Amino acid sequence: MTGRRILVALMSLAACTPAPPSADYVFLGGTVWTADSARPRASAVAVARGRIAYVGDDAGAKAFIGKGTVVIPLAGRMLLPGFEDSHLHPATGGAWLYDCLLVDDTSRAMLVAHIRRCAADDPKRPWIIGRGWALPLFPAANPTRELLDSLVPDRPAYFRAADGHSAWVNSRALALAGITSKTPDPPRGRIERDAHGAPSGTLREDAEALVTRVVPPRTPEDYERGLKRSLALGNSFGITTMTEADADTTILEAFRVLDSAGALPMRVVAAMHVDPAAGTAQVARLAAQRTRYAGKRFRPVQAKIYADGVVEAHTAALLEPYLDTHDRGPANLTPGQMDTIVTALDRAGFQVHIHAIGDRGVRLALDGFAAARRANGARDARHQIAHLEMIDTLDVPRFAQLGVLANFQSLWAYRDSYVRDLTEPVLGPERSSRLYPIGSVARSGGTIVGGSDWLVSSMNPLEAIQVAVTRRDPFGAPGPAWTPKELVTLDQILAAYTINGAFANFQERETGSIAVGKAADLVLLGRDLFAIPPNEIHATKVLLTLLDGRPVYGDPAALNAR
Ligand SMILES: [Zn+2]
Repeated sequence: MTGRRILVALMSLAACTPAPPSADYVFLGGTVWTADSARPRASAVAVARGRIAYVGDDAGAKAFIGKGTVVIPLAGRMLLPGFEDSHLHPATGGAWLYDCLLVDDTSRAMLVAHIRRCAADDPKRPWIIGRGWALPLFPAANPTRELLDSLVPDRPAYFRAADGHSAWVNSRALALAGITSKTPDPPRGRIERDAHGAPSGTLREDAEALVTRVVPPRTPEDYERGLKRSLALGNSFGITTMTEADADTTILEAFRVLDSAGALPMRVVAAMHVDPAAGTAQVARLAAQRTRYAGKRFRPVQAKIYADGVVEAHTAALLEPYLDTHDRGPANLTPGQMDTIVTALDRAGFQVHIHAIGDRGVRLALDGFAAARRANGARDARHQIAHLEMIDTLDVPRFAQLGVLANFQSLWAYRDSYVRDLTEPVLGPERSSRLYPIGSVARSGGTIVGGSDWLVSSMNPLEAIQVAVTRRDPFGAPGPAWTPKELVTLDQILAAYTINGAFANFQERETGSIAVGKAADLVLLGRDLFAIPPNEIHATKVLLTLLDGRPVYGDPAALNAR
């Protein structure tokens, strides 16, 4: 026999009697939720050389146990594909972790004491900068410069709101930015004013840029430092893929540096920032950046457009007016501008990721995708719209028709103070009964993906998953769902956070489900989510997160049963 024939003979012998590789990890004896429609449930999984080597019953898995295999019992626990968070801000969010972070201040007294403490702790810092004040803590979501002057009298102070669509500044910051009663509102922004027309201290949407241009800018190193913390936080919540929802070139550079150093514990897709004023001239630059910054685990393949703002600040674009101001709110682009930029981005092969909250904003986005399809022809584009607080009933079926993914932040879908105090009074009961229509979009055949929008809200997917199946405060007592027709099942929302997330990023052949040959991106939970009361889902612990078969959170040795 020639050498080649011997090789072929050996290979066919191997094909007849496959000797299973000795696995690095074998999970067995419990619940494996696979997100694979061909085999939705299993009791055992083997992982070898970074890939899923086996999915099935315990007897079959035992053949994969070799000398060095870590064997992890699943009894009472649950193994599922690593979570995929399809909309969050890990770079800016991570950088804010080093500033005066107000996200846990649930009363005005707590917030005031916290800002005083931040200023006192850092007497040499030229600016006091922070983030995370909750809009409902202030009448009409409108804090004043006088209050901030009393807390930080000696230096400029700038505090971004929790939702990122408003900023609160003191008199020194206003003066440095040159904002006076004579300053007109900028495009896509509003300067809140007192009864005399003087700036009152709150800036909406792009009016924030009047101040941020005089604030010391972030550096790539600030973002690298922040990303190390935010990505580790993601791993601790079982997240293995993230979509960075708004990246400028400083952020792209930070990701490039981490990825080329092999320091990304996560697959990351980035949506690059689109300037609504710059038109189609920017598409070539974005395409060049897509190539320049791409790496092993980092792919900047999406383009981010803000169609509108948020209801709480009266900056969401509505089809019918707000009940108090009687206007319909601003959109950031005209329909013509939206159609033109989406069509150009679609033609250049981008996935377009649009922020839309009001029902007119959502329609503007859907119309843009329809225009792109008319101009460029239908393709497997996987564009998406994020947030979707309001969708007109007529527009619900268009997600399925246009193949546009519905990117929901299901953690927001209950009657919290944002809904009760700032939304229901300005929308009225009928529109308020149709907020966050996750169930409606799912029933109409649309594909749901899930995202946290961190640092706007908690990054823990289990909190959002619980709210999707309860539509109640995740930390409150059980009881009837708010707007129950918009509930989805646990299987549906887990799919949103796994296989649908992989689909959204064109990586469903590699991740998103537990199937032989796929990357071993896995999360092990301390409890079986299908076996516990729904109001306990949020408190379930993550025991282990694997990325490409390597632990990025938790200690497998501590779980080894051998
Ligand atoms: Zn966002």
